[in-house]
Amino acid sequence: MPETEGSPGVPGVRAMLELLDADLDSVGISSQLRTRATNEVPGNLYQEGFRELIRRAPNGIDRANDLIKRAVLQALVDPPFRASDERTDLHCRSILRSNKRWYLRPSVLALGRLLASHPDRFPLVLTTNFDPLIEIATQRAGGTTHRTVLHADGYLGSHGAAHSATHVVYLHGYWFGSDTMHSAVQLTQNRPQLQSSLIEILRSYTLLQLGYGGWDDIVMGALQRASEDLGSTPDILWASNQLSEKDPARKIAERLYAASARQRVQFYAGIDLHEVIPQLERAMSKERKRIDVIVLSQHERVLGQVLGKLNLAQNHFSFLPATTLRTKRVAEHPDFKHKILNTRSCITLTAQDSDPDCFLTVVIVDQPIESDHYSNLFGDFSKNRHVAIITTQGASQIGIPLTDYVRYFIIRYVLGQTILINTHEETRDCMFDKKNHKPDIRLSLRSARLCDDCNLKLRKLSSPNSETAVGACRQLLGHMVLEHN
Ligand SMILES: [Zn+2]
Repeated sequence: MPETEGSPGVPGVRAMLELLDADLDSVGISSQLRTRATNEVPGNLYQEGFRELIRRAPNGIDRANDLIKRAVLQALVDPPFRASDERTDLHCRSILRSNKRWYLRPSVLALGRLLASHPDRFPLVLTTNFDPLIEIATQRAGGTTHRTVLHADGYLGSHGAAHSATHVVYLHGYWFGSDTMHSAVQLTQNRPQLQSSLIEILRSYTLLQLGYGGWDDIVMGALQRASEDLGSTPDILWASNQLSEKDPARKIAERLYAASARQRVQFYAGIDLHEVIPQLERAMSKERKRIDVIVLSQHERVLGQVLGKLNLAQNHFSFLPATTLRTKRVAEHPDFKHKILNTRSCITLTAQDSDPDCFLTVVIVDQPIESDHYSNLFGDFSKNRHVAIITTQGASQIGIPLTDYVRYFIIRYVLGQTILINTHEETRDCMFDKKNHKPDIRLSLRSARLCDDCNLKLRKLSSPNSETAVGACRQLLGHMVLEHN
């Protein structure tokens, strides 16, 4: 839902009723759903509106699917969507790829960061929404997602086994390329495979329910069955935002009575998702050292994948794109608009805006960079200011794939921030070679070695705390080398 009226976002139920009224009206059906919503349950009116549209309007199901497309596309910004814009499946697919066009409100961004940083703890997302915002938020935070769309019966397939991606399952269809399910007839159709998949999931995972009204649909049916199956041991955390008479929680509690009586369902009332998700994200990110990455490069997509790989290779650091606001502030600073960047001034002003919880900020740019003493640098770093800057230029100069190059330097600077070792002039096939001669990087990148001297220093300087950090850096390097050879 949009944050405030008129801001971009997928319309909420009441705004959907308005769209439904207009569509029904255009085919001569008078519905007044929006007006009736003051006295009746909006969710029921929503189902009724779609049922009418599908049954009575010519090509009703296509109209319903198109209405959903138009609704989802209202989450676009820059340029915003207009009703006259093309929206064939092909077109929707290309819009989906332009990740930056979608407006994501802070709670959705926080959810994306949560999923991207902890694919092992949140391997599966079941959604009754049609929009792609959860996936987009996860990808924007450097995570990987894969998608299953169900608009009929089907198994959910595998998830979580590799711990490398978030599996997002659209239980009621997707905003394009599939039918969307709205009416009671569609929502309650018999889907035995899906039902048994869901029950199986409830056996292995804790279900955290957020923002789902508990409709009379397949999800509720599966939950009820799992609840009544005394052999199963579901663990359900049910968050609801209201406590009023109209609150569905009471109805849900009745349906899940069996599990609830066994203390296998916990209800949490008065939960505002837009507050709770960011809080949860902050709490969980404290478990890891946070590394903010400010991407001022045209290779945003590739760099997002790099962050995903770094997160998956270890669990000590959390590599996250910096907030849009911080990125914007840095990007718009005049010093960052020069053709050749002076790293010292860029590092200083990046540090000014840093949050004290942030272990290191990495800025990635495409321009050449220079310090007061050197020109054509591959990167620069200030341990005191907790900021590193890397340019993508170097990768093409020495013919190394951008992903490997950037990953190498991020690890190099994270290691630099973790332990106190200075670079040495001499080339020893070591991470801490000064690499005045750029092709030396290629050697170091393949071996990911530290020289004997640096290894010795490392052992001397290690505290239990830095040991785990160094361990994580070694894991990162190990992964990179494995992929490389
Ligand atoms: Zn060394």
